[in-house]
Amino acid sequence: MIKTPHKVDLPLPKREVSDPASLAAEIMEKLTYAIGKDAKVATPHDWLTATILVVRDRVIDTWMESTRTTYQNNGKRVYYLSLEFLIGRLLRDAMSNLGLMDDIRSALQSLSVEFDVIAGLEPDAALGNGGLGRLAACFMESMATVNIPAYGYGIRYVHGLFRQQMAEGWQVELPETWLAHGNPWEFERRESSYEVGFGGAVETVDGPDGEPHYVWKQAERVIATAYDTPAVGWRGERVNTLRLWSAQPIDPILLAAFNAGDHIGALRESNKAESLTRVLYPADATPAGQELRLRQEFFFCSASLQDIVRRHLQQGNSLAQLPEKVAIQLNDTHPAVSVVELMRLLIDVHGVAFEEAFEITSKTFSYTNHTLLPEALESWPVPLFERLLPRHMQLVYAINAKILLDARKKRGFTDHEIRQISLIEESGERRVRMGNLAFMGSHSVNGVSALHTELMKETVFADLHKLYPTRINNKTNGITPRRWLMQCNPGLTDLITEAIGPAFLDDTSKLTELDAFADDASFQEKFAAIKRANKQQLASLVSGRMGIRLDPSAMFDIQIKRIHEYKRQLLNIIETVALFDQIRSHPERDWVPRVKLFAGKAAPSYHNAKLIIKLANDVARVINNDPSVRGLLKVVFVPNYNVSLAEVMVPAADLSEQISTAGMEASGTGNMKFALNGALTIGTLDGANVEMRDHVGEDNIVIFGMTADQVGRVRAEGHNPQAAIEASPELQQALSAIASGVFSPDDRDRYTGLVDGLYHHDWFMVAADFDAYARAQRQVDAIWTDEAAWYSKTIRNTARMGWFSSDRTIRQYNEDIWRA
Ligand SMILES: *Cc1c(COP(=O)(O)O)cnc(C)c1O
Repeated sequence: MIKTPHKVDLPLPKREVSDPASLAAEIMEKLTYAIGKDAKVATPHDWLTATILVVRDRVIDTWMESTRTTYQNNGKRVYYLSLEFLIGRLLRDAMSNLGLMDDIRSALQSLSVEFDVIAGLEPDAALGNGGLGRLAACFMESMATVNIPAYGYGIRYVHGLFRQQMAEGWQVELPETWLAHGNPWEFERRESSYEVGFGGAVETVDGPDGEPHYVWKQAERVIATAYDTPAVGWRGERVNTLRLWSAQPIDPILLAAFNAGDHIGALRESNKAESLTRVLYPADATPAGQELRLRQEFFFCSASLQDIVRRHLQQGNSLAQLPEKVAIQLNDTHPAVSVVELMRLLIDVHGVAFEEAFEITSKTFSYTNHTLLPEALESWPVPLFERLLPRHMQLVYAINAKILLDARKKRGFTDHEIRQISLIEESGERRVRMGNLAFMGSHSVNGVSALHTELMKETVFADLHKLYPTRINNKTNGITPRRWLMQCNPGLTDLITEAIGPAFLDDTSKLTELDAFADDASFQEKFAAIKRANKQQLASLVSGRMGIRLDPSAMFDIQIKRIHEYKRQLLNIIETVALFDQIRSHPERDWVPRVKLFAGKAAPSYHNAKLIIKLANDVARVINNDPSVRGLLKVVFVPNYNVSLAEVMVPAADLSEQISTAGMEASGTGNMKFALNGALTIGTLDGANVEMRDHVGEDNIVIFGMTADQVGRVRAEGHNPQAAIEASPELQQALSAIASGVFSPDDRDRYTGLVDGLYHHDWFMVAADFDAYARAQRQVDAIWTDEAAWYSKTIRNTARMGWFSSDRTIRQYNEDIWRA
């Protein structure tokens, strides 16, 4: 709250001086008075915390200013609701955006502290799973950069996503402990707490107007407490807030039970509440796991909605003005229950009539779809939903009745189409369809690449699109160039600045001026030297962590992303095995030396994905120990993929693998990071690869394989993978080596099931695309051999990727959807 009876015009010691000497003094001051340590005994972690606190002071000044102006303007605010925010480390981000990088480095140097050492100790905030969570993080940074008053809302997971370790090549999941040393970036806001209820029943009472009113008598309640983290925009223009909720019990201890000797039972409430915000994506194979997941979703949505409505009313606005002042973006369906929670707040708490409540709600919400995979479209069993959220179940039925009536009034809707539109899946177990709820409760539904948006209209939302033909729109994803160029690749950033000046730092479309240097021999040489230095850095990381030596003059061919069959790491591994065969059969040929690098986590319950990790490690062991391919082929699976690892691997890539089955990757953002940092892409016409080809030019990207249309047709007509395998001797040989245990002598049958799957259904078209992929790889070899051609293409990639900045994406959201 800004209104305050306190005296506020006392001058604060504003942190305006930022020369190394004053910064060093401030760091000493923090070390002494905030951390309570003597410099003589301070640990590297203490220095890190002291440095963060100094940078944080500067962030806070702008943060308060931004909040104050937003309040005074009473303009529209954007709320980004997401179950994931994969923000990674924050120190470099904040320093770079505030322009403090050089001065803090010098300050620390004068204190004999090495910046890179302490920066490397900052834990990764692993509050996300993959692309969707990283997108939310890039968006937070871009919203602050383009000066949109915005809040991110999510969950403060104590453990986040698991930490991945390898045990004999198998993935093992360990708890991530990112909060072990405390988190100096966050501020606990005890005063911003809300009760969130679950279960119980709905009672009907007569209201003063004679109309029935509904009262949800909740059986359980927990407290949601806010933790705020500042999100700093480029050049520190604006600082927004990421507000993450933590669950606390209403009664931390049942004292009577404790005193009666039940020391464990007395903490039951406390443990139950806290288990809500412990881990991201608890295994949902069991009913208990599913229930926890739905509880998590409702927990953060309810707290966020209560907070949003409270702030709106506190500004003196009316509820009818909500769509004028508030835009809520749903990042996928995880927060879709927000639609009915806002309806409940409007109707039950504030007495708004149903029709008006629905109007306000749908004008306020918009929804981003991230996947067409049927198994990833959330739905909840009706009995579970009804038991946990009885009032929301009623509202789901009421919205459904209204929409289905609309559809029936419009001619041309068949019963089948009506069933597809319904919020309730009726075939088999009755379930609540969260995608349909998000669609109906929003005025805008967007896909994340041009291709994905078109496919959305044709597949998942075909019937809803027919009912609301103007609702679906496209917003192609982007990445923040601050983290994914300036911070992760300072060498390249300096080189670009030297060539075309610094304007691209504020407007990445200016990168196109680099085109003029693509064929300039001396520029190519400098570009190559930077790539080599980045590869050297990755080689040091791999040697330090895994004891494997990499030769930076070999081609670094990298595939890093979640492990999933549709992303087709398996295609890459099989091609690696085929290449291994070829090199051994034809040692006389001039092979291009390659290092194949993989990284990525598999969902703990996803059997085939975990098997693919084991296969990568088995293949790596055999190949790396075979003297006949020494210096020509090496395979490495780097454990525990996260944002910090990506920041080292992306700038070191020569070749970027973006080889998903066409039609299955909604957009991808990894593809954009690599191309921006001067890698060549080998990829299918999937997700944003299609638009990347349009921007970089078809000569500067290697495209192969079936199109989404072809995949659809082949699936419909019946695919015969066995014929494809038999027609390809290389593929057949690689598969039989894998299936017969060449890479798994300790368990010869380990991969028979995996290979059988390719012979029998090959849903992801690995066999179907293999030959095209292998040919494309040899085309890549040919380009590599012509060094001038290689750098001409890769420089053009950097030059033409400016459009994929998330600043552009955010401006489009703002112009078309939010209008803040
Ligand atoms: C960018 C990024 C992703 C998304 O990668 P895709 O290749 O688009 O799937 C996932 N995880 C991390 C850590 C990332 O930085």
